[in-house]
Formats: sequence, C-alpha cells, structure tokens
Amino acid sequence: MFNSGTVVKVLIPNVVNTGYDYRLTGDADLGQFVRVSVMNRPYIGVVFGFGDSGLPPDKIKNVAEIYPSKLSADDLLWIQKMSAWTLMTPGAVLRLIINVPDAFLPPKIEPLYNFNFAATGKMTDARQMVMDAYSANDNTAMTITDLRNIARVSHAVINTMIKRGLLTLCDNRIIESNEFNYIYHDTGNVILNDEQSGAARVIGDAIDVGGFSVHLLDGITGSGKTQVYFDSVLRAYNAGKSVLLMMPEIALTAQFMTRFQKRFGAPPVVWHSNLTAARRREIWRGVLNKKIRIVVGTRSALFLPWQDLGLIVIDEEHDTSYKQEDMGNYHARDMAILRAKIAGFPIVLASATPSLETLNNVDLGKYKILKLTSRFGGAQMPIISTLDMRENRPTDYKLPNDDTSHHGNLSPALCDAIADTLNAKQQVMLFINRRGFAPITQCKKCGWVAMCPECSVGMTYHKRLNKLLCHMCGRTMELPKKCPECGGEVSQFGVGLERIEQEVSARFPNARTALVSSDTIMTRQTLERLVAKMENGEIDIVIGTQILAKGHHFPNLTLVGVVDADMGLYGTDFRAGEHTFQQLFQVAGRAGRGKFPGRVLLQTYQPDNPVLTAICKCDRDSFIKNDMESRRSAKMPPFGQLIAVIVEGEKEQTLKSFCETLAASAPKLNGGKIMGPIAAQIYQIRNWYRMRFLIAGDANAKLQPVVSHWLSTVRTPANIRIKIDVNPQNFM
Ligand code: ADP
Ligand code: ZN
Ligand code: ZN
Repeated sequence: MFNSGTVVKVLIPNVVNTGYDYRLTGDADLGQFVRVSVMNRPYIGVVFGFGDSGLPPDKIKNVAEIYPSKLSADDLLWIQKMSAWTLMTPGAVLRLIINVPDAFLPPKIEPLYNFNFAATGKMTDARQMVMDAYSANDNTAMTITDLRNIARVSHAVINTMIKRGLLTLCDNRIIESNEFNYIYHDTGNVILNDEQSGAARVIGDAIDVGGFSVHLLDGITGSGKTQVYFDSVLRAYNAGKSVLLMMPEIALTAQFMTRFQKRFGAPPVVWHSNLTAARRREIWRGVLNKKIRIVVGTRSALFLPWQDLGLIVIDEEHDTSYKQEDMGNYHARDMAILRAKIAGFPIVLASATPSLETLNNVDLGKYKILKLTSRFGGAQMPIISTLDMRENRPTDYKLPNDDTSHHGNLSPALCDAIADTLNAKQQVMLFINRRGFAPITQCKKCGWVAMCPECSVGMTYHKRLNKLLCHMCGRTMELPKKCPECGGEVSQFGVGLERIEQEVSARFPNARTALVSSDTIMTRQTLERLVAKMENGEIDIVIGTQILAKGHHFPNLTLVGVVDADMGLYGTDFRAGEHTFQQLFQVAGRAGRGKFPGRVLLQTYQPDNPVLTAICKCDRDSFIKNDMESRRSAKMPPFGQLIAVIVEGEKEQTLKSFCETLAASAPKLNGGKIMGPIAAQIYQIRNWYRMRFLIAGDANAKLQPVVSHWLSTVRTPANIRIKIDVNPQNFM
C-alpha cells in the first residue's frame, strides 16, 4: 500500500513507456488503476512501484484519479517478465491489457443503429458485411464507428443505408446491458468415456490441488478433446475461479457455441477482434469485477484484466495464429504458460498435432501428457494413401461452349473416388492451400512476370475479381491483355483454388460446390453459413484452403482429396515439415467422422517423402522423432533459440548503411552468434525495404539482454524501423 502523498511510478500503455512519476492524492496499492495526464492527454495507467525519477518535488504532477480496481502483483510480474522475454517495453505490454480506451469512463453519447432485417432489396457486399457485423455481436445496436471498424464499410455506404431504411436509429446512447450475467452448471448432457474421464480426472486433480502444471491433451481428431477440457473448465469455475479458453479465430464457430451451451446451460462470453466498443468495454469490466468468469476468445483474451484466474485452456495449441506479429511479437501460448507459472495454476494445451516445442517439454518431463487414442463413438480413422502423379496423369478437360483444352490437376483416380462418393450421396473436400486462380502471370515470349510494384512478390490472378491481387499488401491491378514489355501473349501458371473449382465444374457439372478461402470467407458469419450448408447436405464438394482444415465436424464428409501434397514440403524454414504434417493431418482428420468410414487421397510426385509416408500410416510419432533429431543436430528450436531483428527502411541506402553500422557494433555472444544482415526473402513490402539479422544461441543462452543492449548502443535514424522477433515463426 502506498499512502496519499507518496511519489509513485505509473506505467502507462504506450510503447515507449517504462513509467513516469506522479504524486498520489489518496491511498493506492501496487497495480491500482489510476488516471494521469501526459503532455495534457489523459491516460489510464497502473501504479508500478515507488517513483525513482529524482525530479524535484514541484515538477511532479498529481495523479488525477484513483480507480477502485487493480492488477495483482502477479500481473505486474508477468508484465515485467513478458517484457524481458519479448523485448517489448512494459508500456507496450500494458497496452495489450488496457486496450479498451475508455474502460473507466461513463458511456459516450453516440447515436446507435439497429439493422432492419425486415427491409427488402438487393443483397450487396456492403449489406452482407454490415449484417455480419451485427450477427458477430448478437444483433446489438451499433454506433457508426463500430460499423466502420467491424464491417469495414465507408461512411458514405452507411449513410446510404440509413437513408434507405436499412439502418434505423434506435437510441442516443450506449446502453450497457447485463446480458453477460450467465450462470453455468454441468447439464449432464455428456457422459465421458473411460479414456476421456481418465484425462479429465488428472486435470481435475491438478485444479483441486492448485499450483502450476501444464497438461498436454493429445488426442486424435474426433476423440472428444473438447468435452474433456469442458469438464476442466467447469471444475475450475465451480471452485470460484476465472477461466480462459483460447482458440484460433476460425474455430469460434456456432457449432462450438452450441456445444458449449449444451454442456454449460448458457452461452459463452466470446472475445474477438470484431466486437463493438460497448461490448469490449462491457466484457473488459465484467472480467475485471469477476462478473464474467469464463471467456472464450482469441489470443488477445489473454490480456483481459483477469481476477483470480484458475485455469487456461489453449485449443489447437500448435496453431500459428497464436503468434502475434505486427504490434509487438509475442506467442500467446508461451505467454499464457508464463502467466500460469507466475500465478500458480494449471494450463491445458489441446491438439491432435502438438508443436515440437510442446512435445519436447513432454520429453523433458516439464509437461504431462494425456492421450486420447480413439475416435469418440467408434468412428475409425480414415484410410490415407498417396496418389503417384507420375503414373496418374490428369487428363485435359473442356469448359462448356468453349473448345479450348485445359490441363487438368485432378488425377483420374481422384476423379473416380469423387464420383463414387457423390454416388453414395456423401460429401467431398478438396484441399489446396493457395488462394486465387494462379500465382504466376507471365509473358510466354519474353518471360515478364506480373509483380506488385510495392512488394517484391508476384501478383496472383483472381478469376472472381478478374484482377491481379498482391497477397502481401492487398493492391489490385487489371490483368494486362498483352505483355507490357514486348506485347506478347500473357498466361497464368500454377494452381490455385479457383482453377480447381473450374475443373470440378467441368468434370462434375451437377455437383453443388462451394469455395472456402480468406477471399470468400471474410467473416466468421460467412463461414458459419457454409458450415450450416455442409451440415444440411446442401454442398457436395467443398474446395478450400486451410480455413477448412480445423475444428469442423461434418459427419457425412467421407473423401478428402489433397490436390498438391508437395506444396509445403520444401518451405525454406525449419518448421516446413512440421507445418505440412500438421496441416495435412488436420485436413485428413475431417474425413469419416460420422457413421461412414473416410478416405484421404494425397496427390504427390514424391510418394516416398517421409512426411507423406508418416501421414499415410497415421504415424505421427515416427515423423516427430525424425524431425526432432534433425532439429537437435541443427540446434534449431526447441534445441536452440532464435531471435530475428528485422530492420526496415524507406530508403534503400539509409537502410543498408544503418545495417552496416549495426553489424559493426554486433557483440560477441557466449554460446551463440549473430548472422546477417541479409536482404529479407521478401525484400520490399509496401515500398519499405527490409533486411534481417538472425541471432542463434544454445537452448539455455541468455540472448535477450545481449540483443537489447546491442540495439540500444546504436541511434536509429528517422525512416528506419526495428522489429524484434523472439522465437520467430516467420522468416520472410
Ligand atoms: P476433437 O476436438 O478431439 O477432434 P470433438 O471434441 O470435436 O473431438 O468430438 C468429436 C465428436 O464427438 C463431437 O461431435 C463431440 O460432440 C462428440 N463427443 C465426444 N465426446 C463425447 C461424449 N463423451 N459424449 C457425447 N458426445 C461426444
Ligand atoms: Zn513479353
Ligand atoms: Zn504488394
């Protein structure tokens, strides 16, 4: 406790901040939320310790307001440790926590609009996006700011919708409802089988006993991991604790919500990036005052102001979406484990394809493993086999009313399997992890390739848009009719989703198909409509990217065809094999989850590749063993550590000379080395040039302090940005 009049350090949510001194005007605890003014702007901050600036007393301003709530001492320690690990400033970490700007202010008076579902008229893209924004928020009224942020439509579009009566004014202020007063209990609708209840018991005991422990819930796809961790969530909740359930954004489906409600008797409070400002504030405050004790959310839910957190569950723990990469680099799984360790409570990681980092911690005895080895209800794992494309050459095909022959990408064997499945009135999924029609647009005569003018990547042709699209920055361009260099003929090379859709429509003209990628699925609501159509049997063949690989349970889906199983095998980073394995294994896991057995066909030119043979045998362990060994000998994570330093500059020359300065001042490392600078694989993004350093060290080397000291010795010029990425997942 700090008494009134004490000079304290207040940490504010700002990337450059490590705390400023203020004088208390009342008593406050460590971690207490306070309002202070910095350069005449109000900030919510937290009391972070005694003041230490040494400023004369008359230069020290008073704290403007002391709020009744606070972060715990554990939370403050977590902020410090997270900052030391990620090399984000403590202020940058606090900004992740205080990310609801007016959390402590009375609601602003702003007009609120409802969506007029009764209105008739054309369904435009904008209208669809606005509708989706409403359903992402259970149709609560929205401000214009909300609509712009969530539906991403312009003010002009909103005004037109108001004029046409599609949006109706309902109130002039934001009303904070009490709709999150859910009470949960075990409805008893689910009875765990032996294997499931064995796993649930171990976690339940850990919750009862308390203290830090990590449990890997390692169950094959369809084994019922969800019901096991639901059991744990209830256990902690009934003990009066708060519980966080983290999952990737695309797994937050209606299917999941329904299951939750069935088991808990009330719907979950959901946290994601598309909530209205009022909802964010309401959930944030609800968590702070413990009115809300269970939240299901994406990685940012970890930063809610949790009180008395007693359990974190991380579903699909291997998922790359837990790594945040733009506003500070952190791995939500690792930071969650850090939080559990500091506060002393159990954490559950669930996956059918755990990361090597996690499996290594199991080997080291740091994490406990709980296995679910069979599919619930006796469903069998699908039969997985390769199709050797050297012997199974796709035939050409023609489109209706057009005499041109097109090269096929679906082999005769795969086409036969599709036909059989359709005849049996079952569903097919074709997986290809590339958006658009074709990745390369090239001149046949001089070799010119369509490149993004601002990024050093090729532009992908999207047939639906009939445009070239840069997957890096989103810029679009018209497809040139002729080569801009020599006037020669341009054509598209390579295979994307839309090219497969074209082939499917030619070969199976009567099948009802659907495309699923981030181009067609802008929101979770669109995905939900698709999931519903799949469940209702309104789709025969679904063609999709990895969005489809996770979480969904389609009982009538019995055939999965992987169009190009070789695509991910030769990625340039050391996790390429692991990621390909995880992705293909997850996709394969979609087949045959109901009454009917499933099969999976992998089209490949290298059927003997160890990643593919391991998948065919469902032999995860031998794949992991091999991959672990090669990482061990290369001293790659988890057997070594990496930190990437990415330096970006508007001017190539300034960037190069700054990198030379950095290189010249690079320290010698004990148990490690600093490599670079090299030009990044994607040398230019949005016109900024990019160079990279990579710091590699032994598993137990303390790299962070060295890197942080190194970078602090050099003055960063204007127009240069430095990003530090501890344990990078992305090497581009
Ligand atoms: P996983 O997450 O391991 O892939 P799910 O949790 O999706 O598996 O379970 C697969 C299916 O089996 C789901 O439809 C789920 O509701 C059902 N299921 C699993 N365990 C049980 C149980 N004990 N009682 C009833 N249904 C269950
Ligand atoms: Zn040309
Ligand atoms: Zn671009």
